[in-house]
Amino acid sequence: MSMIRLNNVSKFYQNKKNISSGFNKINLELEMGEFVVITGESGSGKSTLLNVISGLDSYEEGEMYINGEETSHYTEQDYENYRRKYIGNIFQHFNLINSYTVYQNIELVLLLNGYKKQDIKDQVLDIIKTVGLEKFKNTKASKLSGGQKQRVAIARALAKDTPIIVADEPTGNLDVKSARSIMKLLSEISSTKLVVIVTHNYEQVSEYTTRKITMSDGRIIEDKKIKQVKEIKAEPLKPGNITILNKIRIGLRNVFNIKSKFILLLTVYFFLTFLVFSVYSSLESQKFNEGLAGNNYYFQETSPERLIINKPDKSAFTEEEIEQIKNIDNIKSVEKEDLLLDLQTSITDDELYLFGKVKRLESITEVDEGTLPKDLANGIVISGNKNSYQFSASQDRLIGRTLKLIDSYTGESLTKVVISGIIYENTENVHFDNFTIYLPNEIIDKLKVSFGVNYSEIEMKINNKIYPQIGSSLYFQVEPNKNVKDGQAYAFEGLNSYCSYYYCRGKNLKLSVKNIYYEDTASFRISKMLNKDNFRNATGLKNFENHANKIFISENDYNKLYNHGHFQISAFIDDLHNDKETIETIKKLGYNTFYMKEALSSENELLGVMRIIRYVVFIIATIALFFISYFIIKIILKSRNVYYSTIRILGSTKKQAAELLSIELVADVNLAYLLFIVLILLNTLSIIKVEYIQNLISYFSLKDYLLIYIILVFMSLLISTRYAHKLFKDSVMSTYREEV
Ligand code: ADP
Ligand code: MG
Repeated sequence: MSMIRLNNVSKFYQNKKNISSGFNKINLELEMGEFVVITGESGSGKSTLLNVISGLDSYEEGEMYINGEETSHYTEQDYENYRRKYIGNIFQHFNLINSYTVYQNIELVLLLNGYKKQDIKDQVLDIIKTVGLEKFKNTKASKLSGGQKQRVAIARALAKDTPIIVADEPTGNLDVKSARSIMKLLSEISSTKLVVIVTHNYEQVSEYTTRKITMSDGRIIEDKKIKQVKEIKAEPLKPGNITILNKIRIGLRNVFNIKSKFILLLTVYFFLTFLVFSVYSSLESQKFNEGLAGNNYYFQETSPERLIINKPDKSAFTEEEIEQIKNIDNIKSVEKEDLLLDLQTSITDDELYLFGKVKRLESITEVDEGTLPKDLANGIVISGNKNSYQFSASQDRLIGRTLKLIDSYTGESLTKVVISGIIYENTENVHFDNFTIYLPNEIIDKLKVSFGVNYSEIEMKINNKIYPQIGSSLYFQVEPNKNVKDGQAYAFEGLNSYCSYYYCRGKNLKLSVKNIYYEDTASFRISKMLNKDNFRNATGLKNFENHANKIFISENDYNKLYNHGHFQISAFIDDLHNDKETIETIKKLGYNTFYMKEALSSENELLGVMRIIRYVVFIIATIALFFISYFIIKIILKSRNVYYSTIRILGSTKKQAAELLSIELVADVNLAYLLFIVLILLNTLSIIKVEYIQNLISYFSLKDYLLIYIILVFMSLLISTRYAHKLFKDSVMSTYREEV
């Protein structure tokens, strides 16, 4: 059985316009051990024949048998396999990796076939000796002379040690002396192989030839056996797959081996990194600024730095705990009485209306006008911009003026107050509600209770049975009353219908208050049922009708229920860009947090839509960046096509070649990313100062860096697979032809 048999095989080249013939109806049998020399004028089809024989090109008609096996059904992968097991190619133009050294060129073939780097060292050095290039083993291929290059190409074929060696005009570019020694080298290896050589110069090889074939116009016109050869059996290689380590090794070698390409790719990837960072940061900064711009009806103190903190068990904070939070980095200040921040009130008479935040009188020590209210029980101090309408309209008629203090939650007048002093603030804002009203503690407590009442739900249980509270007739109200003793409750008579035997007196009544800050339950003994007759006496109030559905408890109990201790505090964050870490720290200490910035941004539905739009824009921008970088990288990589088709000719599979490319590009993107991080580090360490980068990174946390990294690596992988797909779509030879 012949090693290779062609049966009426024809090869056509199909161009856009016409079909031309490479060779026509060739019949040929090649045996192991032969040293076949093909000659013929230029264009007669010699190269085409060699390419078909070595599986680099397909054929259109007839049948080629390899070791007796039909090949007309071969897929690209079958040819890949065939080349890996049988074929060593030597070309007129050498096809070396110019950026590799002699050693690396030869080693590459073996690494691609799955050998370990350290196992093949001696072998490679031996082969280099065989072709007489010891002195040049570390010289780059590009620095060698033509003869030396061809020796490397032969060494490479020797190293691969395939049963068939195919050489297309291997001495075409060499001087006579080099040519002679190359031919001798080839003849020496031919005894155990099948060697097929194309040459113009038959004289040079005549002494080694066992068979001479002459071609003309796509046909064999002469096929002459010169020497008899021993019959030997073909031993196909059993190549392994390149190891992962060697894949990475070669991939990394390829990153650096061509400096100009490396710098170009690094630059492109650096800009890609930079742009992804920029797009991402503009996304983050928009989100950030929206957080600042949002609004919220529940809270009055809506500065984005505010971080509300409470304990999971809703208990009050101790001084140590408050101190601990104060000591956290990036916490500017802590407001123990968080509720005060949201407390607002207004003071008014017929002419004047002042609305503003509430603060404790005891927190100030001096005023700009008037005095601090020393002995005056209901004396207050107000503060605001001197140019505000309220201040300038009333001018000096403010001090000593008596006004009603309105509870803004109920709209009712809570008490009368007298303005005792004024503080002028230097705020830009002369807006009507930008006042602060400093109040004595008793009034603040009343406001706090009112706030609590207003934002709480209350539930009542009688003997552990829930009072239904559905429908207006079942509605009840809890109020403080001076006449009621602690722990007792006076209940409206109608409640009796919810007690057994229509009798509630002496029964247990539980009131549960629930709001966003806390839940509290207090137990009472019902000591009186109120009716029209006993109402006045019992409560000291006049109109029974106005109080028909009321539960009265002592003032003390009422305050306890609605005015808790420091169950909640507010901390203020210093640098908002680092807020995430600060919040993490506080959470790690075991507290619940409620972040104003987030509350503000999540409140607004329009912002939600904006956010979706933003992500869409981000994705579109990233895709656009992907294509831009793809096209730039494609242009840069064009010079690498020769490399990749060469390693495929050497026997690498498409997949392996694609993986090598991926490793190269991913390494590039990693370096670019690293470079960018170094730039950022230099900025944070203030070694260099680039304001743009400083701004950029102020929005990022570790998570964002990771995300961007993943996006970049992913983009890089996409680019390499896409590129590899395009590059390796065609047969090796057509890719190669396009490039050379
Ligand atoms: P040789 O190697 O003997 O000089 P080739 O095998 O290169 O000849 O060429 C044989 C014929 O095939 C020629 O007519 C040549 O023009 C044609 N040919 C070779 N390669 C291609 C190609 N890629 N596309 C079209 N025609 C080609
Ligand atoms: Mg040719």
